[in-house]
Amino acid sequence: MSKAVVSTLYDSDVFRMACRQFDQAADAINLPEDIRDRTKYPRRCLAVSLPVRRDNGGVTVFEGYRVQHNLSTGPSKGGIRFHESVTLGEVAALAMWMSWKCSLVGLPYGGAKGGVIVNPRELSLSELEHLSRRYMQEMIGFVGPEVDIAAPDVGTNEQIMAWMMDTYSNHVGHISPGVVTGKPISLGGSEGRREATGAGIAYLVGKYLEDMKIPINGSTVAIQGFGNVGSESAAALSSMGAKIVAVSDYTGGIYNAAGIDIKKALAYLRYARTLKDFDGGEPIANDRLLELDCTVLIPAALERVITKDNAPRLKCRLLAEGANGPTTNEADRIIEARGDIELIPDILCNSGGVIVSYFEWLQNLQSFYWSRDDVIAKLHAILDKAKDSVEYQKRKLKFGRRLAALTLGIGRVAEAKQKRGLFP
Ligand code: NAD
Repeated sequence: MSKAVVSTLYDSDVFRMACRQFDQAADAINLPEDIRDRTKYPRRCLAVSLPVRRDNGGVTVFEGYRVQHNLSTGPSKGGIRFHESVTLGEVAALAMWMSWKCSLVGLPYGGAKGGVIVNPRELSLSELEHLSRRYMQEMIGFVGPEVDIAAPDVGTNEQIMAWMMDTYSNHVGHISPGVVTGKPISLGGSEGRREATGAGIAYLVGKYLEDMKIPINGSTVAIQGFGNVGSESAAALSSMGAKIVAVSDYTGGIYNAAGIDIKKALAYLRYARTLKDFDGGEPIANDRLLELDCTVLIPAALERVITKDNAPRLKCRLLAEGANGPTTNEADRIIEARGDIELIPDILCNSGGVIVSYFEWLQNLQSFYWSRDDVIAKLHAILDKAKDSVEYQKRKLKFGRRLAALTLGIGRVAEAKQKRGLFP
């Protein structure tokens, strides 16, 4: 069988990591050779230059991307990241994981992701608006409610989604809320979307701790990243009785063995915009936080923070991957060989975000809006089903939990592609 002729377009550590995960899963389920490359590599991508008028009268050109990994099982779906370390390869890896995630939890979507190389903290509000609108303007022929639907990711939020939706709607001549999710509720956002990823993580952590016969009440949690995912996980877990002993952001972390007052930390963050100098505990470095003795460790910032160097030193009982791709392939092997840490893999653990994004899109298409209780009940039902299917696959095929989740996600995408056939 001939192999794909693949350029170096996406080549990067994180894309190679996603490809290795794919290869391992494809081997584990004997995925036929003739479907592998078609399932593995992104379908298409767009790279754009984004000139933005600065407040001082000058112009800065930013670079942005959108990668659509899979369009065979529905429109593609995935967040947009504004961060200075974005690369096309990173966006491609994140798009790939979105495909497996949507497939694993049974959503009618393929995976996509977008990104702009920018530190949004260095832009004024009006510069951020110009950049967001320009990005969507450049994407207009490439996205849409039936083609590709965006959402927030690192460095983007509800306001940015609102500007993007407005830009797209102005172009098509009528309001088109279904082009992005994670919008403000006043513009067709869903009840429960803002907290969905963190609420889903907390729900699954609760379920897995139950399986491990560890009471959540009094269990300790360390969280790296205190943005949407990290802070909402912290709020949900602390309301379930867990003690949040450490949180961090890009400036560093805070440790408090007696438990951090999460409401106070959130109030401080709203005013100071970072956790720096928050007096709710003692300072702790981000890499030390990962090695804390705790019941649950939640990486909720960027990829590849758990490596072959720190994996032998982790002291958590449960590793709940809030971020996408936080654990390298080498660290995965070490954690599995240790056998004393349970893992909730990213494509299951943080799927609450895209599940409620799907609910938001459905509500937009039907112009019929659900209550928060409805949203949460439906979210839990999907998470329960996905967890059961992962546990069944894990037992049946004697796989680790990541391999179980990946083989389910990848297997379904490959099957759909095979059934559709190869055009022309
Ligand atoms: P965010 O921008 O709201 O928050 C990111 C947090 O990480 C911030 O607190 C930031 O200061 C911190 N951070 C950045 N660089 C860091 C570093 N080097 N060390 C420590 N902390 C650092 O982003 P988010 O939406 O919370 O996304 C976090 C992760 O969760 C990403 O991997 C994202 O892809 C994933 N995710 C997000 C969603 C969602 O709904 N937003 C859904 C699924 C997965």
